[in-house]
Amino acid sequence: MYSYQITEWAKPLERRECDTPEPQGTEVLIRIDAAGICHSDLHIWDGYFDLGGGQRLTLDDRGVALPLTLGHEIVGEVVALGSDAEGVAVGDKRVVYPWIGCRRCEICASGEEHLCMTPRFLGARVDGGYSDYVIVAEPKYLFDYTGVPTNLACTYACAGLTAYSALNKVAPLTERDHLVIIGAGGVGMSALHLAAAVTPAQVIVADIDPTKRSAARQAGATDTIDNGADDAIKRALDITGGGAAATIDFVGAPVTTGFGLEILRKGGIHVVVGLYGDALPLSLPMLPFKVLTLRGSYVGSVAEMAALMDLVRSGKVPPIPIHPRPLPEANQALDDLRQGRVLGRTVLNP
Ligand SMILES: [Zn+2]
Ligand SMILES: [Zn+2]
Repeated sequence: MYSYQITEWAKPLERRECDTPEPQGTEVLIRIDAAGICHSDLHIWDGYFDLGGGQRLTLDDRGVALPLTLGHEIVGEVVALGSDAEGVAVGDKRVVYPWIGCRRCEICASGEEHLCMTPRFLGARVDGGYSDYVIVAEPKYLFDYTGVPTNLACTYACAGLTAYSALNKVAPLTERDHLVIIGAGGVGMSALHLAAAVTPAQVIVADIDPTKRSAARQAGATDTIDNGADDAIKRALDITGGGAAATIDFVGAPVTTGFGLEILRKGGIHVVVGLYGDALPLSLPMLPFKVLTLRGSYVGSVAEMAALMDLVRSGKVPPIPIHPRPLPEANQALDDLRQGRVLGRTVLNP
């Protein structure tokens, strides 16, 4: 097998070859058809996340060893099974749930593996999908995607799941409530597409880019806001009749979360999803005065992945734009994403 691996943080990925592994026990060997490129791949490639105030969260500190194969949005075909692997057969086409935990702790036992303190996330902690093969620990992490194009299917493992789990965190809302999605990039657009299936609330999209706002209106947003405009907060309060019930920040910058908190009505909730980075000064009395909730959301659980794939297979989720590229163009594709030259999702085909 061959893989495009980080051998040194922030240096070009290296093509490296090794023996194709044989699945042991409950493991499944997948021959990869496609792997999506996620914005967080850029952070992992750099080797750190910006925590603000000059502080960094480095992957070295987290004990991530190099070389590492990136790629956590993986789709492919089952080609071999360990002796204890049950529930899939050779030839099955599956999307891989990559947010796998240690599979031993209480958090993992409760089904919240994505919250495990010693994760084994594919493409972030152990080798992932920028490769032609990947080993998956158990068949329960594999999901049928019948009726969905292969290159699109992989994007549900992160972009789709992240959007879906964030939407679950603001439910239940009513049809009189307003939900404001901040940032209409790949994950924000996925959230807009999924919103109708999760919440009856009126969905408004805020983005500084007029092209993205018009794409959001075409995709069913009730209204849009230019959150970079001077009167953005006043406009948001006008549209929502005094404030939104919920805001979800798919950018995760001080200015976007500041905006999201500012436009909430009493009792509102703001969810931070994006990992842009940096820090935000927060007016503490506003939390009790307005009974606000501020929380984070990171990918989603295995159960949420199962529910999401049910929705996807039922045809209720419009596709996001996909740009396939050959795996050997991985470095160029990552650069293009960093330069903002990608609308929708790039997927790599080995
Ligand atoms: Zn991702
Ligand atoms: Zn665990």
